[in-house]
Amino acid sequence: MKILKCIEDLIVYRNDLGSQEIGFVPTMGALHNGHASLIEKSRKQDNHTIVSIFVNPTQFGANEDLDKYPRTFEKDSILCEKLGVAAIFAPDPRDMYRKKDEITLNPPKSMANVYEGALRAGHFNGVLQVVLKLFSLIRPKRAYFGQKDAQQLLIIKRMVEDLFLDVEIVPCATKRDFDSLALSSRNIYLNQMERKNALQIPMALDLIKKMVDEGIRDSNRLILEAKKCIRDLELDYLDIVDYDLQRVSEVILGKSIVLIAARSGKTRLLDNLWL
Ligand code: AMP
Repeated sequence: MKILKCIEDLIVYRNDLGSQEIGFVPTMGALHNGHASLIEKSRKQDNHTIVSIFVNPTQFGANEDLDKYPRTFEKDSILCEKLGVAAIFAPDPRDMYRKKDEITLNPPKSMANVYEGALRAGHFNGVLQVVLKLFSLIRPKRAYFGQKDAQQLLIIKRMVEDLFLDVEIVPCATKRDFDSLALSSRNIYLNQMERKNALQIPMALDLIKKMVDEGIRDSNRLILEAKKCIRDLELDYLDIVDYDLQRVSEVILGKSIVLIAARSGKTRLLDNLWL
């Protein structure tokens, strides 16, 4: 497995691969089984899997955990090697952002100024900026993104459509821990009590799933019942939307997502349910 720490090395490596099919898994590191499932999916479909490990500064707000974000490069590279990754690309932020004032991308307001975007101004601009840079450098045939970050996945799909990018976006199901909490690099911040309380999130989603399976489609009713599960968390939002991130009054199977974000102690947790 190659470890590429600068853009020039990546370009040489990429050019050598020529027209071979490349699968790309962008990450911020602190890899867990959720990331591993994206890598495994790529390993089944692509000749070469490239993983990027890059804590992208432009998607963090001023009061967020950029400096504190977990960095576990040694452990991550052992996992990647075990999974058969061809190369890790782990650039320095100064290499990725060479100028003070770079071109940015504006996602549609209707998709980006709601939910995560409403609480994290500029977050999705930063996500699109780095993903487009990575796509330009790596030129993947396929790129793998977790459904766990539903809003991110939908906005990236929209960028690919609107800019006619030649890459297939492959959505990947959310991996959960033994107790049903969605795996996240930020779960390590939770103490025992906060973790126990955090399980109210998958409980709320399970309740909605059960009610939908029983034939209930009314969003208000589903949300009202699910909110009763969230007793010991600060709820940022719990809503049911379509793939354009617009609120829906009725669930339509195959077209609706339940989005939830809540804080357990100081840790923000995201989860969702694709119905
Ligand atoms: P991150 O390192 O948090 O930027 O995540 C990198 C990729 O892994 C993103 O596409 C995430 O949506 C995906 N991901 C994160 N957590 C999970 C999970 N629990 N299950 C599946 N994919 C995930």
